[in-house]
Amino acid sequence: MARATVAIVLAAGAGERLGAGEPKAFVTLGSRTILEIAAANADACDQIASLVVAVPAGTEGQARRMLSALSKPVAVVAGGASRQESVRLALAVVPADTESVAVHDAARCLASPALFSRVIRAADLADGAIPILPVSDTVKRIEDGMVAATVPREDLALAQTPQVFRADSLRDVHIRGAAEGLSFTDDAAMFEWAGLRVATVVGEQTNFKITSRADVLRAAAALGGGFDG
Ligand code: C5P
Repeated sequence: MARATVAIVLAAGAGERLGAGEPKAFVTLGSRTILEIAAANADACDQIASLVVAVPAGTEGQARRMLSALSKPVAVVAGGASRQESVRLALAVVPADTESVAVHDAARCLASPALFSRVIRAADLADGAIPILPVSDTVKRIEDGMVAATVPREDLALAQTPQVFRADSLRDVHIRGAAEGLSFTDDAAMFEWAGLRVATVVGEQTNFKITSRADVLRAAAALGGGFDG
């Protein structure tokens, strides 16, 4: 039987690089917002029991209305000043008996329910698991604007979300990381720092992070719809 997993969907970023004048997750792709699409994909994964969604403070009501059609229970919380703080605030309302947590960027709204399932299964084999993509470009290290070296790309990969972790370990690394004043760009980095084991599965090319306006257009095209923003 599948173990109970809670999805944390992070949508509390301001999305300043997008310049949409509203939180990035509230930008519409066709008929639905980025947040609605991301949450619906998590909701459609069988192993996920419930969702916790972090949104910018003051937008909780708007987000609750947006997510009212989901089939699973959803809690909406105000996020923090950083991604890491938003995860910590969301973790505070994850039920105590939860076995694993899938931390997902709403900005990667095209992550499929099948990807959630594969990462959840892989996390059973370690302390956590993340989706990755191989690096296909040649990678250079640059010093003072000049090429210093070519970095062997065989050992490199691009990390995506959803990232799935044992709930107790995730709580523990967040408490310890915050106590030491450390900041990390994803949760897997906290597990690496703590010496825990994170497995990998192959991610999805369509699971890119929407950062720029070009990404919005690409995501809208992938969904087969338009972008009215
Ligand atoms: O800023 P970045 O693109 O790395 O954000 C990744 C994800 O984390 C986005 O889905 C964003 O909404 C979320 N985030 C958040 N709280 C913040 C900053 C980012 O939930 N303070």
